[in-house]
Amino acid sequence: MAKERYLRRDFVKQGSLATAGTLISMGLAPSLFAGGVNSAGEPALLGGKPVRTKSWPVWPVWNPETDEKLIIEDIRSGIWSRGKLVTEFEEKWAKALGAKRSLMVVNGTNALITSLIQLNIGGGDEVIVPPYTFIATVAAVLATGAIPVFVDVDPETFQINPDKIEAKITPRTRAIIPVHILGLPADMPRIMAIAKKHNLFVIEDACQAHLAEINHQKVGTFGHAGCFSFQNSKNLPIGEGGAIVSNDGEFMDRCYSYHNYGNPYGTVVGAIGAGTVIPGTKLRITEYQAAIGLVQLVRLDGQTTTRNINAEYLKSKIRKIPGIIPYKLYDHVTKAAFHLFPFRYQKEKFNNLSRNEFLKAVTAEGVPCSNGYQTLNNMPFLENAFKSKNFKKMYPEKMLDINKYNEQNKCPANDRLCNEEAVWISQNMLLGTKSDMDDIAMAIEKVYNNADKIKSKSKK
Ligand SMILES: *Cc1c(COP(=O)(O)O)cnc(C)c1O
Repeated sequence: MAKERYLRRDFVKQGSLATAGTLISMGLAPSLFAGGVNSAGEPALLGGKPVRTKSWPVWPVWNPETDEKLIIEDIRSGIWSRGKLVTEFEEKWAKALGAKRSLMVVNGTNALITSLIQLNIGGGDEVIVPPYTFIATVAAVLATGAIPVFVDVDPETFQINPDKIEAKITPRTRAIIPVHILGLPADMPRIMAIAKKHNLFVIEDACQAHLAEINHQKVGTFGHAGCFSFQNSKNLPIGEGGAIVSNDGEFMDRCYSYHNYGNPYGTVVGAIGAGTVIPGTKLRITEYQAAIGLVQLVRLDGQTTTRNINAEYLKSKIRKIPGIIPYKLYDHVTKAAFHLFPFRYQKEKFNNLSRNEFLKAVTAEGVPCSNGYQTLNNMPFLENAFKSKNFKKMYPEKMLDINKYNEQNKCPANDRLCNEEAVWISQNMLLGTKSDMDDIAMAIEKVYNNADKIKSKSKK
């Protein structure tokens, strides 16, 4: 039945100027949109009128009247290095998540590196990661000297597949880094159970998942540590910034000390007068960054609710289009962050129109979308890490055989997502109205209805 409802191609070919009246009188009203005509007509990619010409909500949100007071006060005070605003943000961020402690650092990448190092993970160790993630997750593991071990994704949820974790655990495995990728929660209850059974640390990469929840508990608070990013594109944008959260006070004291050259802090104390206690670095954030964070934090909850409502609505519409398979959330997810809205594109249902042509055609309709991540488990940075002096000293030669490593780290489900199926809509578009969501669905439907036409034209 669904197939016929969408096969309006022949009709559309006959007259791209068809009006709503003609469509409806002929019983051919667009199936997703009663009375709407925007999904009919010539595809914009082939010179037709786009579904939408209006712009999308801008990111980041900045309202001079309400947002500038704090940062101007701070700039004028001359207190720019870490002080009370950073502490205030940390307290509010910990509270927002229901975590005992939070520490701001310069970015999410260094939140991950700091957490790994303060859990004593480094040279000689293995850390389990998903391949469907931003490069920083894996870069953080390598930066400590540990080797990332890839566990394939569940393509329905886009998250690390818990069924495949145990097979990758070796005597060297020390930790799992589940990534709540795209702002959709990974299956934390199962991952925590596996970690407990094998005595592994769990460091959640929640860099895209601000305020996402499982059973009303915020992600980032399930594992030993949770890491967040406040980079400009993220759901809580500061420019650059990151945070570690944890309920383990001694661990957080070590993280604090490490981010401040290794100077004594809390339970990290040396002999009196002995100076710096642990090897550290400098990852402190500035007051004016915290000032931006504090004003963004005020709107985060409302924005997250809007994204959830719009995502569910958009999902309910586009799932009816053959060949469009929206993300699935695990049953216990009570809220997602929707840093991105993902779906899988099946070109077989679109007359074999390639994903790239599909993306171009939908974007031409005024609805920008992208193909997302490339496969990173076979990128050159891994081989180059293995060739480095440090890795050669830390590992037996047979572990650094890149061909063998690649063989052991194959992730076919991820390859398919990255190379063929994944499509992303960005989070700022989910901050619009219901009618904005209709535009997205309409653009996809229009491309569906015109797939053969687009395909034959784009070949020439
Ligand atoms: C953004 C991001 C990071 C790194 O955060 P930065 O603040 O850019 O260093 C790590 N992991 C994931 C999944 C991210 O999206």
